[in-house]
Amino acid sequence: MLQSFTASKWMTESTFQLENTYCNLPEVFFSKLSPTPVSSPELLVFNEKLADEIGLEPSMFSTEERTQLLSGSLVPGGIEPFAQAYAGHQFGNFTMLGDGRALMLGEHLTPSGQRLDLQFKGSGRTPYSRGGDGRAALGPMLREYLISEAMHGLGIPTTRSLAVVATGETVYRENELPGAILTRIAGSHIRVGTFEFASLHEDKTITQALLDYLIDRHFPSLNYKENKPLALLEAAMEQQAGLVTHWMRVGFIHGVMNTDNMALSGETIDYGPCAFMDIFAPDTVFSSIDHKGRYAYANQPYVARWNLARLAESLLPLMDDKKEKAIEMAEEALNAFEDIYKSKWLSMMGSKLGLLVTRKEDEKLVIELLDWMHQQRADYTSTFRDLSKPELPMESAYTTESFQAWHVRWQNRLQEEKQGWDSSVTLMDSVNPAVIPRNHKVEEALQAGEEGDLIPLHNLLKALENPYQDGDHLIPYQSPPEASEKVYQTFCGT
Ligand code: AMP
Ligand code: MG
Repeated sequence: MLQSFTASKWMTESTFQLENTYCNLPEVFFSKLSPTPVSSPELLVFNEKLADEIGLEPSMFSTEERTQLLSGSLVPGGIEPFAQAYAGHQFGNFTMLGDGRALMLGEHLTPSGQRLDLQFKGSGRTPYSRGGDGRAALGPMLREYLISEAMHGLGIPTTRSLAVVATGETVYRENELPGAILTRIAGSHIRVGTFEFASLHEDKTITQALLDYLIDRHFPSLNYKENKPLALLEAAMEQQAGLVTHWMRVGFIHGVMNTDNMALSGETIDYGPCAFMDIFAPDTVFSSIDHKGRYAYANQPYVARWNLARLAESLLPLMDDKKEKAIEMAEEALNAFEDIYKSKWLSMMGSKLGLLVTRKEDEKLVIELLDWMHQQRADYTSTFRDLSKPELPMESAYTTESFQAWHVRWQNRLQEEKQGWDSSVTLMDSVNPAVIPRNHKVEEALQAGEEGDLIPLHNLLKALENPYQDGDHLIPYQSPPEASEKVYQTFCGT
């Protein structure tokens, strides 16, 4: 197919323009190279809606052009792809990393002026590949597409997915698998690990350049702060506390919160062994490689704080020339994380219970319900959604004395709200999803997709588009799994 394709006038004259301001950073941060072409690319999924939203005007791409472009087989003139260098703490251990199987095509400017990275995942080896093949398997790329779009539907900051192209080539993991390339769209790909990488150089100007770039791109108001590295740390704390609060709201478990997977755009990034919790249990872990539960559901805020401490360490030399003074400033800032997170979490949990304004004492009401759910092995999503129904379903768990007693306390608390029951219901239904990508449904859709049937994937994507709006089309996706359908483990698939 590659040989028979003739690039159109559009391609050769390159009306498709991307910028790469990232390459104005010192050269240590990137390596320019082209994607490795693939033998017989086939465009499997294309996100027309997203393309439209960000002004990519896909109508001017023929299917063949799109396929060639999104498989990395043809790079339009004027575009200079590059791989990014970074490092990171993986499960607590420091490692040199970098885009080993990803490549930045460039930055697209949306009609509203937003700068977005277009990145391939699975596009071939790079100088940072180490022993890896630089490729990705179809299942995990469809998984990233599905979950990232679901997160977007849920109103959670996330990287997006533009397309999945099957490469027509085999990748070798434990088994032989079909290869694929995902096109990821992101606010940027600057990670905590990018700062860790910068700080390894015995040259403060390297980290300074990255900090200035990040601030210009994502935190322009911090340009007026006296101590920019400290202000950035504080802003990242707010941002990440907010992001993890969203995850906790919908029962999302990232699964690999390594510092290289924490993006300073504030977006959820890298959908590997991530999963949504069905039964409420704080220690839930799905990832097959997370043996000690480091990234369990309830640990996520603590890990976010730990990762932010790594960011702070990287910024110390810029905070103050005197190391002790810098450490003192960073520690003081980081010590506020617990309160920042707790306050966001409590107001989020309050909103799940229909409370417009949450008071400190409401924490008890929240914890009592969560404890009850834990004991009863109640479904996290269904329970919260049930609470706003005119009548609770006739499930035996709701008839227990312990639940009834809690329900009375909750109703009494709601009586103290000024806005009335209807407003509480509206609030609850805007934060408690009616549908989430349940693992058994995700696996079902991915398995079909790997076997060439993309209909289950498209149906699931459709159901997840408006997850707060109940409807009959959601019914097949709302029930928790039967015992035989339960998914106990998820895999990175790298
Ligand atoms: P991830 O688990 O996707 O966050 O990746 C961790 C690191 O491993 C990153 O530096 C990736 O670029 C690299 N990596 C993952 N899979 C591959 C692969 N198949 N080939 C080369 N590098 C890879
Ligand atoms: Mg990663």
